[in-house]
Amino acid sequence: MRRREFLGGASLIVANGLAQLAIGDAPAAQATATQATAAQATAAHATAALTLPKVPARQISMLPTVPAGGHQRLALTLDDGTSPAMLSRYMAWAEQNGHGITLFVYGAMSSWLTLRPQILRLIKKGTVQLANHTMHHLPLTKISDQAVHDEIMGCHYFLLNHFGVDSRPYFRPPYGYIDQRVTNIAAKLGYTTPVMWSGSIGDYSSVSAAQIEALAQTWFTKNRIVIGHANSTNGVVALPVLEQILARRGLKSVTLDQVFSR
Ligand SMILES: [Zn+2]
Repeated sequence: MRRREFLGGASLIVANGLAQLAIGDAPAAQATATQATAAQATAAHATAALTLPKVPARQISMLPTVPAGGHQRLALTLDDGTSPAMLSRYMAWAEQNGHGITLFVYGAMSSWLTLRPQILRLIKKGTVQLANHTMHHLPLTKISDQAVHDEIMGCHYFLLNHFGVDSRPYFRPPYGYIDQRVTNIAAKLGYTTPVMWSGSIGDYSSVSAAQIEALAQTWFTKNRIVIGHANSTNGVVALPVLEQILARRGLKSVTLDQVFSR
């Protein structure tokens, strides 16, 4: 099911001409951004762009990347949270390594309230941003207008009531399923920016750490919005490797709020 999520989203992105590659097209472990010397990478890493002029999010209707501009950043986004252990480890990893991550909250999962103290602390620190991934993770293109409304606003009020977060304008449709009808309903609710992705670390299902590493080698490049899932602890052992790849390339992950004004 989660594989379909990635494939559905990827093909949608390609259909909109916003990204070049579906995952099956990915060349293995390219070294595109690994040419810098260790010293250069370290310097770039230290000056990661968290202080750039922000771009208005509302000018962007479908968001698969963060803007270019010579800055060494990407946006790692993590969905669902069906594994509280993995969610907690991802947040600790981001805090430890100075990254910002955007978490797309599947509101009905208990992890979010279980981890509320850690989440609230890291929101305040700028490490974590919460965004709307609907309340029950239904395919929005296949349910009624009222149900789309309820799914989006259910998560909206969940985030507002428990975390004090107004997550507009960002939402990610479950499985990447979106069409004009869903886009219009969401926009009327203030969710004007569907956040898609242009790379995946593949952990929507049980994959090995080696597979996650290979995908990170391919997709951890500048300006990408990369999707991951806090759904399985299989990825825990890959976390140090993910940091090694980012550090070697002088990349920092940033939250959407660190890039876009709203
Ligand atoms: Zn999801």
